[in-house]
Amino acid sequence: MSTPRIDINLRKIAHNTKVLSSLFGSKGIDIIVVTKGVCAHPHIANILVKSGVKILADSRIANIKKMQKANVKATFLLIRTPMISQAESVVLDTDMSLNSELSVIKKISEFAILHGKIHKIIIMIELGDLREGIMPSQLENTIKKVLTLKGIKLEGIGTNLACFSGVKPTAEKMNILSAIATSIEKKFHIKLSIISGGNSANYNWFKTTKDVGRITNLRLGESIFLGNEPLTRKPIPKLYQDAFMLVAEVIELKNKSSVPNGEIGLDAFGNKPKFKDQGMIRRAILAMGVQDVMVTGLTPKLDIEILGAGGDHIIINAKKEDLKVGSDVSFTLKYGALVTAMNSSYISKNIITPISAKEYCAIIEEKDRLHKKNTAIMPIKEDYTPLISLQDSDFNLIFEKSIQKNYRYLVRKEVYKKIGRISKLLDAQGKKLIIRSAWRSFEHQQKLWDQKTSFMKKKYPKKTAEEINEIVSMFIAPKRQSTHSTGGAVDALIYDLRKKCVMDFGTNNGLHIDLNKKCYPKHPDINEEAKKNRKLLIKLFEDEGFVCDHKEYWHFDYGNIGWAVEKNKEYANYGILKASYVQSTTLNHPDKVFYYL
Ligand SMILES: *Cc1c(COP(=O)(O)O)cnc(C)c1O
Repeated sequence: MSTPRIDINLRKIAHNTKVLSSLFGSKGIDIIVVTKGVCAHPHIANILVKSGVKILADSRIANIKKMQKANVKATFLLIRTPMISQAESVVLDTDMSLNSELSVIKKISEFAILHGKIHKIIIMIELGDLREGIMPSQLENTIKKVLTLKGIKLEGIGTNLACFSGVKPTAEKMNILSAIATSIEKKFHIKLSIISGGNSANYNWFKTTKDVGRITNLRLGESIFLGNEPLTRKPIPKLYQDAFMLVAEVIELKNKSSVPNGEIGLDAFGNKPKFKDQGMIRRAILAMGVQDVMVTGLTPKLDIEILGAGGDHIIINAKKEDLKVGSDVSFTLKYGALVTAMNSSYISKNIITPISAKEYCAIIEEKDRLHKKNTAIMPIKEDYTPLISLQDSDFNLIFEKSIQKNYRYLVRKEVYKKIGRISKLLDAQGKKLIIRSAWRSFEHQQKLWDQKTSFMKKKYPKKTAEEINEIVSMFIAPKRQSTHSTGGAVDALIYDLRKKCVMDFGTNNGLHIDLNKKCYPKHPDINEEAKKNRKLLIKLFEDEGFVCDHKEYWHFDYGNIGWAVEKNKEYANYGILKASYVQSTTLNHPDKVFYYL
């Protein structure tokens, strides 16, 4: 994929929007989403509307027009006090605007009359941050005149704090706004339908106040897109901070000194650079610079250090990270970096679209069908590596009870070692690997099949034998097709020693797993915790070279035909090992290591 690019995860944006809209909604506050920080990207605007937002706001008419042209269905609010020279466009291209100058409102009124329109306005009040807003002492006077203007409808009042001077929207400030609203309504016998209390910086006020007073509305940008509160830059609980990720490519990686060599003058931007002496370091250069993005607003995901940047380059200390020329390096963004990256024509915008459960399942089922076709023709060069019982190891493992008597949890020697390393990694996290199943004989596989078939027959008495077969085969392979007969397949879950329970994987209750489509590893409709836990489980096995089954998040293959197809190998190393082979191996090696039944 091309770099530099910004990955835009629409699912995470939708999640943040829904969480904040239900949080503020719980005390009767509606949210308007401010799109200026993402240049009113139409895909983002659409996902906001899909997530329930009715009003989209932007500081620029060009952005509003862009959304309208893309057929985004919302009410559009212009939030920067309009230029008097654009009054006609305000009337024609926006539905509502924030205003703080009577002369401008008069001009808007003239054009509204001319075009036979009614333009809604919200009057902004200055409460201390010293950006836009009418002084409270002048307010009555202004409103009196506004109410006489034709073509203008006074929708409400609002204020904006924090942005310019960092003045906090405290309870005191919000109470003043509420009191102003009440006094205006009384004085002029009108009803204000919007009392807009501010922006993302109002989060802490909202969380700590008992009574939101008359505030009915907030205008949110940063908290929706970046998941944090702007005054402290602290993450907001339950929100994603990485809905946007910036990705740049390494173009040079060399061991060089941490301090320059020569007499030092001014750099490309007229500053005198300073350097910390760290001896020789691994210096990487990324193909992205301050001409693309506000580099000071980048936070690397890896343990690396940004040493500085020029117009076209970012120089990093790669420390111990495994980077090479061509590697991608990812960053999360602060607001300034988000705005500049979204504005840069050099950074491609990569929209990651959420897919519905239905679409996802259809893709997986098609993939699985193809996979089965390919496994059927995958050659096998059996390498006869022995089976070893995991029960004879000293790894920290939990063994799930099997329907097969004297089950020994046999795996190939290579797999055995891999499980050992995985269990060690989990030990360090206060967790334990649960081995559900490993090598199975045909007899064992048949038992599982029969058990599931009789269960399904009871559950769906009206279904034909063929239909039952189809359901059962969704999750249980016929005996000759199961990769469990190779000793390269392992079924595993994780036990959390601190919480004293099997981790939540979305379809399980402890060790019991409901077999349904939500077992497909990346099913979108499982809870966030389960998604995280599946990621952990799958990463542990993938890092050891296993592949996760398409339909079962707990099933991992190594060395067998399933693995060979996924890894594009010429042949598989592990074929089917029948019970008779396993027993004869045992007879030849009665002193263990090579194993048996
Ligand atoms: C930018 C802006 C907002 C949104 O601010 P965030 O901190 O991104 O939530 C709200 N109102 C006005 C008037 C703005 O200019």
